[in-house]
Amino acid sequence: MAENRTALVSLNDGELEGVLRQMGHSSFRAKQVRQWLLKGAAFSEMTNLPLNLREELSERFTELALSREYEMHEEETDTTKFLFRTADDIIIESVGLIYDGRLTVCVSTQAGCAMGCSFCSSTVGGLIRNLSSAEMLSQLILASRISGHEVSNIVLMGSGEPLNNYDSVKEFLLYIMRKDTLGIGIRHITLSTCGIVPGIDRMTEDGLFVNLSLSLHCAVGSIRVRLMPVERKYPLEEAFGACMRFRKASGRRITLEYCVVEGLNDTDECAEALRRLMKGTDSEVNLIDYNKKEGYRKLNSRSAADRFAAKLRKLGIDYTLRRRLGSSINAACGQLRSTYVKDRQDLK
Ligand code: SF4
Repeated sequence: MAENRTALVSLNDGELEGVLRQMGHSSFRAKQVRQWLLKGAAFSEMTNLPLNLREELSERFTELALSREYEMHEEETDTTKFLFRTADDIIIESVGLIYDGRLTVCVSTQAGCAMGCSFCSSTVGGLIRNLSSAEMLSQLILASRISGHEVSNIVLMGSGEPLNNYDSVKEFLLYIMRKDTLGIGIRHITLSTCGIVPGIDRMTEDGLFVNLSLSLHCAVGSIRVRLMPVERKYPLEEAFGACMRFRKASGRRITLEYCVVEGLNDTDECAEALRRLMKGTDSEVNLIDYNKKEGYRKLNSRSAADRFAAKLRKLGIDYTLRRRLGSSINAACGQLRSTYVKDRQDLK
């Protein structure tokens, strides 16, 4: 059922102070309210606020821009896949991974996605809409509250192409980096893009120097286009060129994501094309195992990803095999959501 109340977390500092003043309370209350919201507290738990303020707030507002819908925990990898519901009844997906006691959250930036990558469930129903910065923030707050850990890293690798929702993504990142909010360091944030050239250039111009990861998946354009239709609009050489401009301005090393699809992008020709593309740059490759029938899977010793890794090793290419974090997180991209909303008329 659609929620009509505004999410308090979506107000900026000035707006929040204004609302509190209008209710007859001093603006210093804004800081207290903000701290509670960031902890994921309900109005009833905001015990240092006067009772009448808590009551009035709950009549007019919801705390967050999302509500908790469903979650699934995978013991083996300590990964939780979360489904959250927006005020207009869209189900979105986030993933939380606890590693060494620290929580990494994989955030969705759009509901659905228009980009059509062939290995991705998020794009099956197309783009529903962009998510607001408050909806991205609410994913972090809820994931942290539910898992009982503070967020230490975030990856923008959930549903959606973050650079197609640039303004909200930037607003979200600048907000969570603030010392008086979540204080997440810029080095603990990774943005993954399928290669939206103007978006990468905007990050460079704006000095948004988070870790940048390019979903490459093949350095041969005629093969890449079969996996990623974006290749037609922004060929990989142009996307990589934009990444290199970002690299020069930021000093940050670029990561190339590479799902190894057996029989498609794991040939000698593909390895050689990757070597040529990366030559003279200090970028690195994240190899992710992918199987046409099963989708993403955990790596085994004789997988196509291992064989491709051996080819890269011979060519002197720097790579990492994503055995845990990457594969777990990517495995969730849109898959749980699409299973959950199937046959439910009340959800989008
Ligand atoms: S991989 Fe990313 S860009 Fe491609 S369809 Fe999925 S969500 Fe969109």
